[in-house]
Amino acid sequence: MTKPVIAIDVDDVLLPHFEGLVTWYNAEYGTNLTMANNHPVNITPWGADNIEEAVKRVHRYFETDAFKNEKPYEETGPALTELGENYELTIITGRDEAIEDITRDWLETYFPSVFKEVHFTSLYSLVGKSRSKAEVTALLSADYFIDDNLPAVTEVAASGVPSLLFGNYPWNEAENLPENVTRVADWAAVMEYFNGRI
Ligand SMILES: [Mg+2]
Repeated sequence: MTKPVIAIDVDDVLLPHFEGLVTWYNAEYGTNLTMANNHPVNITPWGADNIEEAVKRVHRYFETDAFKNEKPYEETGPALTELGENYELTIITGRDEAIEDITRDWLETYFPSVFKEVHFTSLYSLVGKSRSKAEVTALLSADYFIDDNLPAVTEVAASGVPSLLFGNYPWNEAENLPENVTRVADWAAVMEYFNGRI
């Protein structure tokens, strides 16, 4: 029997990523970014002239040891191993293809052979090759989607894929969640959601 497919984000779902980026960025550029500044609509707090400049700065972070040494949330490994028994797990990350190799290596280090495929949507691409996550969940015929980014979750949920909004982060607060969206605080909540579904 074919297993249902769960499409899973990387940053701030498998690992705490934004906190490390913010710490590095503030030290490097003298800004006062907080956790609320992830997925910015307003670029001003990033102290850059435009979004391209801010993205270039973030790409410098990808060359640091701080980035390379980021570690997954502790409970993620056991949770994914258990989920993998009944579901096919595939990654859809907003990361740029420029860091495809380092991302694949990182995933293989901490989650060897856990994910069937890894897809990059290049949310903040410097060369204009971004794709929406809804486009990829449709391509994969994903049955579920897990992501911390509210706009991405909203779009995928609207396309008919039950979506889990991961984490209680300052950047994904919402008074009312869209239809087809369930908030899960952490991986224990993810496991609770899937418990007994199959
Ligand atoms: Mg994310």
